[in-house]
Amino acid sequence: MIYLDYSATTPVNYDVLESYIRATKDFPGNPNSLHSLGVKSKALMNSALKQISDIFNVLESELTFTSGATMSNNLALVGTSLANMKQGNHIIVSKLEHPSIYAICNYLENLGFEISYVNNDEDGLVDFDDLKKKMRADTILVSICAVNSETGVRQPLKMIRQIIKKENPYTYLHSDMTQALGKIPVNFHDVDMASATAHKIYGPKGIGLFYKNSRVKFSPILYGSGHANMLNPGTPPLPLIVAFAKAIRLATTDLDKRENFIRRLNDKIVNDLKKYEGVMINHSKICIPHILNISLKDIKAETFLHALEEYEIYVSTNTACASGEISTSVMALYDDPKRASSTLRISLSHLTTTDEVNKFLACFKLVYEKLSLLKRE
Ligand code: PLP
Repeated sequence: MIYLDYSATTPVNYDVLESYIRATKDFPGNPNSLHSLGVKSKALMNSALKQISDIFNVLESELTFTSGATMSNNLALVGTSLANMKQGNHIIVSKLEHPSIYAICNYLENLGFEISYVNNDEDGLVDFDDLKKKMRADTILVSICAVNSETGVRQPLKMIRQIIKKENPYTYLHSDMTQALGKIPVNFHDVDMASATAHKIYGPKGIGLFYKNSRVKFSPILYGSGHANMLNPGTPPLPLIVAFAKAIRLATTDLDKRENFIRRLNDKIVNDLKKYEGVMINHSKICIPHILNISLKDIKAETFLHALEEYEIYVSTNTACASGEISTSVMALYDDPKRASSTLRISLSHLTTTDEVNKFLACFKLVYEKLSLLKRE
């Protein structure tokens, strides 16, 4: 099998899995319980929380464990909007967000919030002048993805935050950092709120992280009992939390070395695929190398994906969560519905080998030739 879909999800690291199993076996108590088993579990949870807060240099009280990045995005957008309705009802998002952000925006629009979509340049970079123009006295929130999940376009969050705060110091900046964490350095201090998830960084599925600076005016959107995880009440999933802490620790080391290796693989694929007349590389100078997006002229991406699958090669059409739809991210880059209607995402990891890339390129050639022939018949 050649797995080239690491941006959809990653395999769990063995050490991470082991820490999950150990926490499950040795810490059966509910961290919310008052007896000694509960106290022991709470202590383990607090130590995992401390490890994570140390890595990101934030307060433990500023972190909430969620079920994944979708839930973190919901908390960020809905929690901030509800708490700041009196200040304003205007929200700005980029055109390179994950579909979950747009779904939440639709919900907020139905509640009476106004959503603006900031333009980007041809590289995918947020258009700073357009952002300034769209900022208003009633803008309560801006949400900009750190790394776009389909194309790998990376945004300069620190600069974006400076622009926003200069225009309106009361506007909060949220960033969906799901595709950035574990691939490039992330700094929670560049933003007021951030979302991340464990299953993109070799951690287990079912747990995410929501960072909220303590100064953000915020309304909880979930209510219940248990105070260990304030904005997501209920019994904290201790084994997932422990495993997530380990995954974050492992995924945030050796980033440069991994990125350089992945860049060489990416260059190799780009250089090879460039030769196909029917392939367009959806790539700009601000893309991270872990994600490589291409468009296929006249061949359906889904057909191509399944043909590669016959060789046990796994890639995505657009993001796994929006399969089958037109790629909004490729549209944002090229404003070309045809180019955005048949896209493949190849996503790489430090686990990818040169041999796998060579085999992928050989199979790509076979599939391309076969499907091009069928198209002509
Ligand atoms: N945000 C981005 C940028 C993503 O790439 C994804 C997953 O594809 C999500 C959010 C959703 O994450 P989760 O599956 O943890 O809810």
